[in-house]
Amino acid sequence: MDQADVVDAIIIGAGAAGLAAAKELRANGRSVIVLEARGRVGGRIFTYRDPSVVVPIELGAEFLHGATPNTDTIIDAAGLTAFDVVGEHWQAREGTFRQVDFWKRIEKVLGKLDEHRTPDRSFRDYLAERAARKRKPKDARARISAIEFVQGFHAADISLVSERWLAKGGDPAESPEDERTGRVVDGYDRVSAWLARDVYDAIELNTVVTRVEWERGNVVVSCQNAAGELRAVSGRTVIVTVPIGVLQAVPPAPGAIAFEPEIPAVTNAVDGLAMGSVLRTVFAFRERFWEMGLRNAPEHGGSGLMSLSFLHSPGADFPVWWTQFPVRAPILVGWVGGPPAAALCAMPDAEIERIALHDLAAHLGTTYERLAGLVTGSWMHNWEHDPFSRGAYSYAVVGGSGSARKLSRPVEQTVFFSGEATNTEGRSGTVEGALATGLRAAQGVLQALGQEPIPNQ
Ligand SMILES: Cc1cc2nc3c(=O)[nH]c(=O)nc-3n(C[C@H](O)[C@H](O)[C@H](O)COP(=O)(O)OP(=O)(O)OC[C@H]3O[C@@H](n4cnc5c(N)ncnc54)[C@H](O)[C@@H]3O)c2cc1C
Repeated sequence: MDQADVVDAIIIGAGAAGLAAAKELRANGRSVIVLEARGRVGGRIFTYRDPSVVVPIELGAEFLHGATPNTDTIIDAAGLTAFDVVGEHWQAREGTFRQVDFWKRIEKVLGKLDEHRTPDRSFRDYLAERAARKRKPKDARARISAIEFVQGFHAADISLVSERWLAKGGDPAESPEDERTGRVVDGYDRVSAWLARDVYDAIELNTVVTRVEWERGNVVVSCQNAAGELRAVSGRTVIVTVPIGVLQAVPPAPGAIAFEPEIPAVTNAVDGLAMGSVLRTVFAFRERFWEMGLRNAPEHGGSGLMSLSFLHSPGADFPVWWTQFPVRAPILVGWVGGPPAAALCAMPDAEIERIALHDLAAHLGTTYERLAGLVTGSWMHNWEHDPFSRGAYSYAVVGGSGSARKLSRPVEQTVFFSGEATNTEGRSGTVEGALATGLRAAQGVLQALGQEPIPNQ
């Protein structure tokens, strides 16, 4: 093969991690090719725009969680606007509303997790032990909210997720910065679009990688385009950014990748992680009806929830809903995570939306017919059934709290894994975490190729 055809790095996946790595490598003068299975960049950043809706509709990532230095850099450089989500958390039950300090309530439970717990155990076991010691109804309510958070925020199955892992990344309130939640006004996809801008010519869309053959300093990646044509791409290194669900898939399942030779350390690390489930449905309404007289909202004199940000309804099919507040838009997002989300994902979209709307009507003490009559549009993406994500985002199972670190180690200075699941700073499952791993992999490739990275590109 002509050496000119051998790129410095083959990058598999054009999500946040892959794009960040590609941009960083090119900025350092390296040749790259990005192979992306979908017909678009962004991966689990997936923004939809509907001319009839005033705000971008996020079907994947939506929030900036805690301190997000890498994302903030992009937001500034791309001239985007971000704002902090403020507003009130309310709990609703059959039309009765109560304002809740959600973080304070769950902090009581999550703040006591032990990151050195030996042997490691599941969150369910941790809760069972706590329930035996703390029998007051107040603690029982806090435990239910903590389950809602671990399922909803971490997308995790509480009988599988590791206490050690949750203790490291699961406490939402280690510092006031960590509590901050923000949103990109222009849409999250503007972040991935900005990253892609300088490397667009190197991105091959609709290109599904099926095989990675490697030896030290030499990689051949086999892929197939939308027309079914097979091709091999050669490089000195490879950065694999596909989600953990894809790494766990076994060929010939769509998206699955065979490594030749296999990398046992990677297989073991991948076994310590699981892909969490999430289901979100977005509804646009004719009006912001929650701001207008809702019955039984005593603190507001029955006048409606003017500053509603999050509406919690523990135990419901869709236990959390949120508005766009402080932006006043007639949009509500329904969210469920963990095993209940996986079960719902097996249903047809129309049935899921019917269940969601029924649930919302029950929380608010109104009728399904009334809400259905106000709906002007609805959107969702089934990440569970998407072959190129196979779930929403990763978490560590019992015994797997060190798996991300193992996955983050370069293999023979040739195969580099990145993507949210490989984040070692407690930022897995986020765009910020994915960006950091893309930059880390790029630095690793530069070092492997004998180049000191130029800082702050
Ligand atoms: C519903 C939902 C809500 C979320 N909400 C938030 C949020 O509010 N805030 C937040 O920070 N994060 C959120 N996340 C998580 C966030 O979206 C991810 O952590 C982040 O986008 C992951 O980026 P990545 O580059 O690691 O992976 P991805 O974005 O998944 O990129 C990997 C890429 O690899 C491609 N690929 C897969 N298989 C192959 C193959 N065989 N060949 C070629 N290409 C392949 C995929 O198509 C994809 O483009 C959410 C995720 C979901 C699903």
